[in-house]
Amino acid sequence: MKYSFGIDVGGTNIKIGLFEVDPFRLVDKREVSTPKYNHTTSIFEVTKKNMTDLLDLHHITYNDVHGVGFAIPCPVKNGYVVKCPNLKWESLDVISSMRDLLEPHIKVVVSNDANIAAYGENYSLEVPLQNAIFYTLGTGVGGGIIIDGKIVEGRTGAGGEIGHMQIFEHDEICGCGKSGCLEQICGTKAILDYAKELSHEYESSIDFKHITVKDVFDAAKKNDPVGFRVLDRVAKYIALSASILSVSLDPDIIIIGGGIAKAGQILIDQILKHYRVFARFGTVDIPFVLAKTGNDAGIIGAAKYTI
Ligand SMILES: [Zn+2]
Repeated sequence: MKYSFGIDVGGTNIKIGLFEVDPFRLVDKREVSTPKYNHTTSIFEVTKKNMTDLLDLHHITYNDVHGVGFAIPCPVKNGYVVKCPNLKWESLDVISSMRDLLEPHIKVVVSNDANIAAYGENYSLEVPLQNAIFYTLGTGVGGGIIIDGKIVEGRTGAGGEIGHMQIFEHDEICGCGKSGCLEQICGTKAILDYAKELSHEYESSIDFKHITVKDVFDAAKKNDPVGFRVLDRVAKYIALSASILSVSLDPDIIIIGGGIAKAGQILIDQILKHYRVFARFGTVDIPFVLAKTGNDAGIIGAAKYTI
């Protein structure tokens, strides 16, 4: 029996998943705090210690470990990170840093967390596809692109940063330093701001003092004038961006994930309504589906990426 680890490293927590490779299944997982000091070494040491604990707990040795996959919150190219503010890494070879702590037969792979989630989502489909675009909608808007079964990292590792494609005219500056990004319409802050703005114009059942994205989309499902308009604007701009990606990449599928996708089928239906208008040629028929792997997308994708 062979096993792989999927490690999802965030600024607050590190999630560690132990998976059986074939058939692919989660054996056990745990979550630990991201160390606060000596990030370039301590993150790997803490990860290794918890990997060893999980193996011991299940009476598995490192001889049966095939690989370790990392999902990290920054661009990465061939395992090399130029700058990762969330983890305080600069000019770091992630693969070598982990490989130094492991036996040589263990494969180490790494990619950006949204790319890894895209990979995991695609390979969690009943029949994995060769070409997929994945959106992750949350506080920020991220994504990942799979072409010919492989993650597109691009020249610098910024491949798949679809939340920062310029999609409209806007005065405010985005986190990336530019403006008019998809994230500035479809990210959490933009959704809440737009709902509050519309509240001056339309009657609504939403409690604007304690408003959450879930409240807005729950209201949309009940045809609330504010809730529905906000959901419709998010859907329209995702559809517009997807139509641009589709004529560039002509994917087999577009997968919508992240916390905001918890809105469910109403979001997909509304995206499709707009997408059918924007799309060209045969790309009109590209299916949109909701992501399935949820909070474990990072560890699942990272473990799958080792196989
Ligand atoms: Zn941006």
